[in-house]
Amino acid sequence: MSLRIFETDPDAKPRPRNVFMDDIVGRFRGGMLVGRRPVALAEWRVTTDDPDVADRIAELFGGTAEEWDTDRADNRQVMTETAAVSIVIEQADHLRARMVLLGLQGPVHQCDGMYSLADDDRGEPCGCPRSLQERKDKAKSGKGPRPDISLKFRLADDPELGYFLFGSGSWTLVSDLPELENQLAQAGGPVQADLKITHVAYTTKAGRDVEYHRPEIVLKGAVSVPLAAAA
Ligand SMILES: [Zn+2]
Repeated sequence: MSLRIFETDPDAKPRPRNVFMDDIVGRFRGGMLVGRRPVALAEWRVTTDDPDVADRIAELFGGTAEEWDTDRADNRQVMTETAAVSIVIEQADHLRARMVLLGLQGPVHQCDGMYSLADDDRGEPCGCPRSLQERKDKAKSGKGPRPDISLKFRLADDPELGYFLFGSGSWTLVSDLPELENQLAQAGGPVQADLKITHVAYTTKAGRDVEYHRPEIVLKGAVSVPLAAAA
């Protein structure tokens, strides 16, 4: 006979471990906070809680392993000299996306754009607007969810170092998702890719200069050598 105490109080039930996240050894970041202002970077910044991982990243991609000021566990960072790294995405569901609006206590709206992904009303219509521009406007004013994209990958140069995570809220990357998801699903196994920070610069018809950095995932095709050694 098993206990039924969590049926009467589902909120007290221990949450399943987040397997997607808990074997991550470091994070690739395309930005950082300067004071309170988020700044986009031209080269990858990697954070980790593991000094050996930090040293190895510096060795592979340049920069120096150093401590940075944070409350979080990943208190070491490397400002690399590399804008594109060669990675391996092992399976299609290592690329994930959802829409999230964060409140002070955590997510207050989580959805796939049409239906809720929150525990208490999962599967119910979430009420987000249909048009992309309205979604962006609502997100910008803090009233609607933003994209929350996660990519879990290994480094092609050192697969055994472990899994890294790239998280992004980029609307530009959102536009790439349908094609990326489609190609990863079709590959049905490990895929080689470049994870890049791409510099975009152009002049609008009105003569205004536009310049920004965007993250980009460029798929290169199936991995030719099995990754058994890295498992
Ligand atoms: Zn929604």
